Amino acid sequence: MQIETHATSPTTDLIPPDATEDTLTAPLTTLTALDEAIERLGVAVPCRSYDPEVFFAEAPADVEYAKSLCQTCPLRDACLAGAKDRREPWGVWGGELFVQGVVVPRKRPRGRPRKNPVVA
Ligand code: SF4
Repeated sequence: MQIETHATSPTTDLIPPDATEDTLTAPLTTLTALDEAIERLGVAVPCRSYDPEVFFAEAPADVEYAKSLCQTCPLRDACLAGAKDRREPWGVWGGELFVQGVVVPRKRPRGRPRKNPVVA
């Protein structure tokens, strides 16, 4: 007897078969719109299935982890566009870190900045 195997993909396995391009990419400009889109998907997106604290973490490693979790989310583009539109004050949205309404590449560790630049 031959058993058929099915290769899984963390990204495509989250996309319901009836999802349209619009439902996945139209900017989710309000948090209510984001909630409704997640509900319509009918699958648990990462920020609803992992500890939500990690999406608002202080530690740079946790922030990078949250950003990686978003990479598997079918709503990532729409979530990111909505967060930019809302100028989210902080947290990881759509796989990017927002600080004071803008996307920043990485979380700076806590502490006072150096008085003198470091020579490499
Ligand atoms: S992209 Fe990230 S923050 Fe946005 S809905 Fe998906 S998992 Fe949540």
